[in-house]
Amino acid sequence: MEANKEILSAFNCPSCDGVMHPPIKMCVLGHCICNPCFTKNHLCPVCNSSKSSARNFGLEELYENFLFHCENKDEGCTFVGEGAVTKDHEMYCSYTILDCPLKPFLCSWTGTIRDLFDHTKKHHPGNAYDMSEKVIPLDMCTHFVPGSFYQVVIRAFEEVFLFMCCVNSNNSAIKWVLLYLGSKENANKFYYTVEFVDPRDPLKVVRLKSNCQLLRNYNEGVKIKCEILSDNDVFKKILETRHYHYIVTLQKN
Ligand SMILES: [Zn+2]
Ligand SMILES: [Zn+2]
Ligand SMILES: [Zn+2]
Ligand SMILES: [Zn+2]
Repeated sequence: MEANKEILSAFNCPSCDGVMHPPIKMCVLGHCICNPCFTKNHLCPVCNSSKSSARNFGLEELYENFLFHCENKDEGCTFVGEGAVTKDHEMYCSYTILDCPLKPFLCSWTGTIRDLFDHTKKHHPGNAYDMSEKVIPLDMCTHFVPGSFYQVVIRAFEEVFLFMCCVNSNNSAIKWVLLYLGSKENANKFYYTVEFVDPRDPLKVVRLKSNCQLLRNYNEGVKIKCEILSDNDVFKKILETRHYHYIVTLQKN
């Protein structure tokens, strides 16, 4: 059932104005508060009375039955679904607003995931790679400044990825990760390989194959798995010459 505006406003948290997703918590006087605000505050943010252990099961049930628009409706997303379905969708909605990943380099752009690639291509052309082939060699020969990040926004298979790579400040390891800007389910479809080439002998290569990680997890501070190259012959040569030649290949299962 599609809820009207008045009913939908009953789901707005009085403290942060966001949608209250279950569990919908209450104070001893009966004010409903979203779970994050409930956890954050010692007292009810509406009336300052103590918090109770009660939940508003009536409202939670309505939440499961009414249709909600995606929170990115104003950005152009047309998705509509029951409360929990919409919440799931919002986890990977391509209309999600994010900061430019090159923000540390003083870019103040914010926009949707679907506009990120075009922004990068226009304003940071050296950090954008558009790949339409099945196998994507991202051939990079970079003279890293130890401790600093190298980031590339990749468009491939009509999806968006963010490759991040850095050399430790004490020059002891190279770390990298390929973040996927889509859903958890789709993330399993992609994998990538990074090959490091011995600068003195191009036939000597270290090849490491990994799964993509989710940008959403990275942004929410969930620990994500980075790949590391350190104690290795090729790596030692790379360090000696400071010639970081590597090739990234992105593939779909
Ligand atoms: Zn709230
Ligand atoms: Zn209250
Ligand atoms: Zn959406
Ligand atoms: Zn930017």
